[in-house]
Amino acid sequence: MALDVGVIGVGMIGQEHIRRLDGGPGGSRVVAVADADAGRAATVAAQLPAAKALPSGEDVIASDAVDAVVVTSWGPTHEPYVLACIAAGKPVFCEKPLATTQEACRRVVDAEVAAGRRLVQVGFNRRFDPAHRALRQAVDDGVIGAPLLVHCAHRNASVPAHYTRDMSIADTAIHEIDELRWLFGQEIVAAQVFTPRRSSRGGELQDPLLVLFEMADGVLVDLEVSVNVHYGYEIRCEVSGETGTVELAEPAPVRIRREGTVAGLVPADWRERFTLSYDVELREWVDSVVAARPPQGSSAWDGYAAQVVSDAALQSLHAGGRVAVELPGRPELYR
Ligand code: NAP
Repeated sequence: MALDVGVIGVGMIGQEHIRRLDGGPGGSRVVAVADADAGRAATVAAQLPAAKALPSGEDVIASDAVDAVVVTSWGPTHEPYVLACIAAGKPVFCEKPLATTQEACRRVVDAEVAAGRRLVQVGFNRRFDPAHRALRQAVDDGVIGAPLLVHCAHRNASVPAHYTRDMSIADTAIHEIDELRWLFGQEIVAAQVFTPRRSSRGGELQDPLLVLFEMADGVLVDLEVSVNVHYGYEIRCEVSGETGTVELAEPAPVRIRREGTVAGLVPADWRERFTLSYDVELREWVDSVVAARPPQGSSAWDGYAAQVVSDAALQSLHAGGRVAVELPGRPELYR
């Protein structure tokens, strides 16, 4: 069975996901699109064999032609679309964040719990990255003994002009927040943000940041968030255990030795580094929808939990100090 998908928000990542979904290996095609910019929606639809541009996201969700929905509009618009998908009983893949406040995320969780079945997947793509999956497997297999410490870095070459101080946490570090919860299968119980000497390349931003996360079992995680490193895009994660360490390998496909140096290319940006993860993420999402299985990626609960941790880290960024994460009990639907 082919899965007929509607896409709401056809900007940068929306168009990237459409390329993966339309005629993709999972047997999906895009049949409807909508965007705040109607001209952009019409242009994108015209390039696809089976797609129509509809006036609004609500029209996409309501369309009988649409089996499942992808929400790739800007974060503050996610909540109403995801709620409408749940009300319509349609599976929805929502790019991160699930919503931009923990209250809004909680409303989505409550709606899904009331509906009684898992319809929502949140686009935290690291769970589908082969290198991150291998890292998790090594930890799960106990090859380094019990994990004790984790060292992470999230580095961007540069960020756009609209990037604000809070986005270092809410938009950037939120990927590590989901990754850590998934990697260790447990909650983050506290966050503390430190503000070192500022990079002269960061303008008004507080860049870089050092974030300390405490996991429920006492593992400590340090995360560097640097968003103006100039040299490229780099994601690091090293887990230090009782009998060894495991870390993400350099992603460069080749290593060059010449003129007395050894070099490997650094990805330019997240698209280059994580292309394969998005391919796997959307293929597995299509497979799960077609098979009527609950999605395997981040759930609405994971989206909510990530937002709660992000808010704690933001509170620390604004007011200083260690902030405990207060997460209510996980509903049965997500156990
Ligand atoms: P973008 O290029 O600005 O695209 C968003 C699109 O949505 C724009 O065309 C925008 O139109 C449209 N839009 C805004 N409000 C809308 C509404 N109410 N209904 C329908 N369309 C609406 O942004 P992006 O970089 O693709 O990011 C989109 C989402 O993906 C964000 O939540 C972002 O955090 C997430 N993202 C995730 C990853 C990842 O690694 N998982 C990477 C990148 C982005 P206008 O331009 O006219 O406002």
